[in-house]
Amino acid sequence: MIKLKDCLYDGSSKFKLLKYPTNAGVEKAKREEVEALMAANKERMAQLQDMLYAQGKEGVIVMIQAMDAAGKDGTIKHVMSGLNPQSIETYSFKQPSKEELAHDYLWRAYCHLPKRGNIGLFNRSHYEDVLVVRVHGLWHGYNMPARCLEMDEKDFFAQRYQQIVNFEDHLFQNGYRLVKLFLNLSPEEQKKRFLARMDTPEKNWKFSAGDLDESDLWPQYMDAFEETIGATATKDNPWYVIPADQKFVARYLASEAILKALEDCDPHYPELSEDEIAAMEACRPRLS
Ligand code: AMP
Ligand code: MG
Repeated sequence: MIKLKDCLYDGSSKFKLLKYPTNAGVEKAKREEVEALMAANKERMAQLQDMLYAQGKEGVIVMIQAMDAAGKDGTIKHVMSGLNPQSIETYSFKQPSKEELAHDYLWRAYCHLPKRGNIGLFNRSHYEDVLVVRVHGLWHGYNMPARCLEMDEKDFFAQRYQQIVNFEDHLFQNGYRLVKLFLNLSPEEQKKRFLARMDTPEKNWKFSAGDLDESDLWPQYMDAFEETIGATATKDNPWYVIPADQKFVARYLASEAILKALEDCDPHYPELSEDEIAAMEACRPRLS
């Protein structure tokens, strides 16, 4: 059975996307067993979330990147469903608005950082700005001075990778932990899922012809993912490359990664000082 550490990439060697499977090959017969492990993870996540919130010291940001139909929404729904919605802050990164485009690309990630003590959930993230923006050459159209744009594509994105590494180091040094998940889907499985969207009335709303256009650019996207992950994984802010062809396995591994980050935070309920306990006890007679 595949383990979380098999999915980890922390930047300490050269990154080769092809080394990471899209299908973990877990037998169907094991599905219930895997789902039971995930249920146990979710219970523990909820306990840790409560302490994280009570303490308010550290924030956790879960980021999900993937090709269409890789299971971003399903992962969010199934993995996060046992948590307390009160301390979860979710944001979906869509095509940038006029307001967002008028700012630096990291601005919207900043605007949607969770408070410390909370869990932030980024459905897509600032990584779109080195993925779709690269594949479609959108950066050529930015309204920015020549010194920011007049360079080779390679140099432009090398700069952005460094900016992202600096941004994420800054977050880590200021009380955040990132869980960076890439749901690694095969193009064959994506096709099956697109067909299921067409064939199932309840899924029709998810079908988008635009997704097929992106799918046609599969090799360009895989090159962009490979370069991005290779350049932005660090010991403190690693990537997890999660095999996504089997949904139950992907969800379990995502829960493992989130649980690990919460355990690394090592949250505890705040303990009162002797004076604070005495002050609390002094209130007891008012309740009798
Ligand atoms: P969805 O997640 O299916 O709702 O689609 C959101 C779309 O917004 C995707 O096609 C993303 O690639 C696109 N998107 C997200 N961020 C950016 C960005 N910074 N620039 C351009 N397109 C983006
Ligand atoms: Mg889409």
